Amino acid sequence: MGKVLAVANQKGGVGKTTTAVNLSACLAYLNHKVLLVDIDPQGNATSGVGIDKADMDYCVYNVLIEDLDPKAVNVATLVENLHIIPATIQLAGAEIELVPTISREVRLKKAIDQVKEDYDYVIIDCPPSLGLLTINALTASDAVLIPVQCEYYALEGLSQLLNTVRLVQKHLNKELMIEGVLLTMLDARTNLGIQVIEEVKKYFQDKVYRSIIPRNVRLGEAPSHGQPIILYDPKSRGAEVYLDLAKEVMANGARVG
Ligand code: ADP
Ligand code: MG
Repeated sequence: MGKVLAVANQKGGVGKTTTAVNLSACLAYLNHKVLLVDIDPQGNATSGVGIDKADMDYCVYNVLIEDLDPKAVNVATLVENLHIIPATIQLAGAEIELVPTISREVRLKKAIDQVKEDYDYVIIDCPPSLGLLTINALTASDAVLIPVQCEYYALEGLSQLLNTVRLVQKHLNKELMIEGVLLTMLDARTNLGIQVIEEVKKYFQDKVYRSIIPRNVRLGEAPSHGQPIILYDPKSRGAEVYLDLAKEVMANGARVG
């Protein structure tokens, strides 16, 4: 059974998609079978692994709303061992369309449960909100990975996310754990970055990954080439550090249940 991880933070631009894409690709590079699940209507994870959204007849929307078999939507990517269930803009309606549906919070879990035996890891890229799509991701997951950008208000808003995690633990998924907190976009030239690291470590203690993602031009460029960093520039600092993160995630225990 694969371990299911949600990459979540309701703030936009903190590195969720960059982390979901590159952690997935690095785990695949390290010989694990990985399924990336894009549940952000922006579909940035989908294009980030080289899938042209215009070519897609179906996406995760059809799975969530129309009960389409997830195996029918799952596609291979450029990276060996890495598959994706893509998202297209069609998903934008799902947040509202889910509201009146039966078992609206567990639809993604039901879909992932059908495929997770085929994978070592299932990684879900969440949208920047705490709405039903993110609730679905947290309900489907063994653990949540929280990217935190190294900036002045880094911790702001995290209490809302942690509250949502607690609510999901209480009502929908009591096994949900915090997998780890990942510091992203560190600018090593500033003192601010160091202060933020200390502040986040004080709050989350040993939940903070040792790997800290620096601001790296190549990481920023890779999505426009539709490639994870491990393909786009395997020698870059960005590739090295996401490989380190993948090893930390592996060391945290490969499988739950
Ligand atoms: P989110 O999914 O949380 O909205 P993204 O992963 O899309 O955030 O990142 C926001 C923007 O910052 C994107 O343009 C992305 O390419 C860029 N970016 C993310 N991480 C880095 C990094 N470590 N170095 C440079 N650019 C980055
Ligand atoms: Mg994103």
